[in-house]
Amino acid sequence: MNFTTIGLKQSLVNTVERTGYTIPTPIQAASVPAILSGKDVLAAAQTGTGKTAGFTLPMLQLLSASKTQLANKQVRALVLTPTRELAAQVHESVLTYGKGESLKSAVVFGGVNISPQRRALAEGVDILVATPGRLLDLYQQKNVKLDAVEILVLDEADRMLDMGFIHDIKRILNLLPKVRQNLMFSATFSNPIRELAKKICHQPVEIDVAPRNSTLEAISQQLYHVGKEKKIAFLSQYLSGHADQALVFSRTKHGADKLTKKLKQANIQASAIHGNKSQNQRTKALQDFKENRVQVLVATDIAARGIDIDQLALVVNFDLPQVAEDYVHRIGRTGRAGATGLAVSLVSPDERKQLRAIETLLKQQIPVMEIEFDLGEQLTQAPVSEAEHKPANNSRSRHQRRNPHARQAQGNPEQKRPGKRRRRPAENSQKPGGSGNAKAKQQAASGQRDNTKRSGVGQAFQSLFRFN
Ligand code: AMP
Repeated sequence: MNFTTIGLKQSLVNTVERTGYTIPTPIQAASVPAILSGKDVLAAAQTGTGKTAGFTLPMLQLLSASKTQLANKQVRALVLTPTRELAAQVHESVLTYGKGESLKSAVVFGGVNISPQRRALAEGVDILVATPGRLLDLYQQKNVKLDAVEILVLDEADRMLDMGFIHDIKRILNLLPKVRQNLMFSATFSNPIRELAKKICHQPVEIDVAPRNSTLEAISQQLYHVGKEKKIAFLSQYLSGHADQALVFSRTKHGADKLTKKLKQANIQASAIHGNKSQNQRTKALQDFKENRVQVLVATDIAARGIDIDQLALVVNFDLPQVAEDYVHRIGRTGRAGATGLAVSLVSPDERKQLRAIETLLKQQIPVMEIEFDLGEQLTQAPVSEAEHKPANNSRSRHQRRNPHARQAQGNPEQKRPGKRRRRPAENSQKPGGSGNAKAKQQAASGQRDNTKRSGVGQAFQSLFRFN
């Protein structure tokens, strides 16, 4: 199978091949023909599966086949994304893949000057990539018309709901023509997502692909029991012994800033990315990381969402996420595109519940490692659940091979207990999350909880991308 056999025209095949891709990913193989046939599509896929090209390529083909004269401020295809970073990345793909087509595109998102965005839209665009809040601002200021939209793409629909965008999305839907092609992508398919899909899509082709296997199997997971107050010292030492770049997850924005500052004091080049940073700061942090100018990017879950970094060797959970599924999303940032990856979690005694929930979701226990470098007194707190962990297997891990300080700790097996789900703290860089969102979150949570019935880490991953 190649890009020609799935229906792409020659000019697009040439462009794709110039970017180095000759074989469509599973999501592309399924979505390209469906979209080209003009059908609505409902796809379970997350970042890393090649989904952006999966909707961008056929969208470019359809739009150039029916090229019409653009009226001022008009938009022919609208791509909605939850975060600014994702909007920027999707637009980059539109520019890359659309090089050989004479189509106009623009990207709009909050946190930056609106004037250049107004100018970009003045004469109309074929493709507009937008975050919902800024799009509505531009609409209210009469800078954009949405009555000629032929194709609507809703990217990362689950995150849109998580971030409280449901009302904005409904308002945008009311501004669009009734007859249009709808493409909806979501990593998870909970009840609220299905409800939304029913409102948006008409007899959609349903596509359900697991993320690339390399992503699932190539990630080693490790856990260190570290007291809360020793985590920064631990991480500084740990990272000093690592040449690899690391994406470090912090649960809070304040925590991310504090950690970044401390890492810098320890001579580790680090920057933070979260919703309280200006767009320019966020773009710079990401760029510095991608171009290897900083070793560590400290991110909150939402800010990290959609960030596509190839060849990322190490992900660190400085705090465990409140929602177990986020653990899977976090560690899926490494081990991509055929590379191997390491996911390290620092767990303090107060994170017992989150750890249980994660291990229940994974249906496996994360190997516990012993810390062998000196963090001063109270090196590690009494392990959270050391007794709950199976003895680790004796073979040396990747990390041990690279870092002689680490060795796997021994523990006793114990029955796992299901963890209670807590509500995710709201972080919203675009708009404040609405209170109506709480219900959606709970429903989403209950939909996702079904995933725990499946077993194995691969299946836990897979279940996240499956229609429930
Ligand atoms: P996405 O899921 O859209 O975030 O894409 C994830 C990564 O896969 C990006 O770095 C793409 O450049 C890359 N990619 C897209 N299509 C292909 C393909 N057919 N083969 C290999 N990599 C791809």
